[in-house]
Formats: sequence, C-alpha cells, structure tokens
Amino acid sequence: MDNCIFCKIIAGEIPSTVIYEDEVVKAFLDISQVTPGHTLVIPKKHVKDIFEYDTQLAADVFARIPKIAKALKKFAPDVAGLNIINNNGAVAYQSVFHSHIHLVPRYGKEDGFAMTFADNSADYTPEKLANIAQSIKNNLED
Ligand code: AMP
Ligand code: ZN
Repeated sequence: MDNCIFCKIIAGEIPSTVIYEDEVVKAFLDISQVTPGHTLVIPKKHVKDIFEYDTQLAADVFARIPKIAKALKKFAPDVAGLNIINNNGAVAYQSVFHSHIHLVPRYGKEDGFAMTFADNSADYTPEKLANIAQSIKNNLED
C-alpha cells in the first residue's frame, strides 16, 4: 500500500534489521528497542489492524510467533520473559497502521517496559459480567 512505512520495509525500500522472513511475515528489530531485542512481526499482506484479519491470515501469522519468541528467549542469557503486544487503533497506542505484533524480551521489573492492569473487579457483579459476555457473544461471527 502506498505511503505505508511497513509495506516499504517489506519491499526493501526502507532498511530494516531483519531477523526472520518467509512468504507470510517479516520480523525485524523495532527501531525504538524498548528493551534489547524488541522485535516486530508483520504480515506481508497489508492489513490495518486485527479487525482486517481473516481466520487464515491469523493462523498463518500467529503460527510464526512461537519460533521467533523462542529465539528471543535464547538470544541473551538474561532474558527472563517476553511480552507479546498488538495495538489496534490510536486509542490503543497504535501509531503505524499496518498490523504488527510487538515481541518485547523482559529482563526484570526495571528494564524500561511497563504495563498496568487496573483491578476493577469490585465494580462487577456476576450478573453484570454475564450481561457483558452475552452482548459480546451476540457479535461473534464465523
Ligand atoms: P505501535 O505504536 O504499536 O503502532 O508501534 C509502532 C512501532 O513501529 C513503534 O514501536 C516504532 O518504534 C516502530 N517503528 C516505526 N518505524 C520503524 C522503522 N522504520 N523500523 C523499525 N521500527 C519502526
Ligand atoms: Zn502496509
């Protein structure tokens, strides 16, 4: 797609530090290196976000993740864990609108990466949770 920075990376028009590539995905180091080894995995097909995947593309792309994750876990002795993050929409911190999956090796609590999950469980009765679940289930397709 024109003017897509990640399509240009796939085409080799913009340089990238590639760690894995096949007919479905390209995986390269994120320029920001939130932690050492921070990697992006992108489908070669231009899809904006998770909402544009079909089942087959999702199966093909996500099937590649464990291989790359295992290489990241082994590449340095102090890699202790890995966050896998996929942002969808500007409100969810997506800034490049060609879908990508972040693989962020973790070295410790003070390694520069942080994520917060608020605990709002006190605000949710079982009935409220059941209503939310039903509303979501009503929208499941295929
Ligand atoms: P997101 O905010 O989830 O859309 O993530 C986009 C990511 O793309 C950011 O972490 C950027 O550092 C990264 N990025 C942007 N341009 C490049 C580039 N030319 N090469 C590698 N990573 C990039
Ligand atoms: Zn693209």
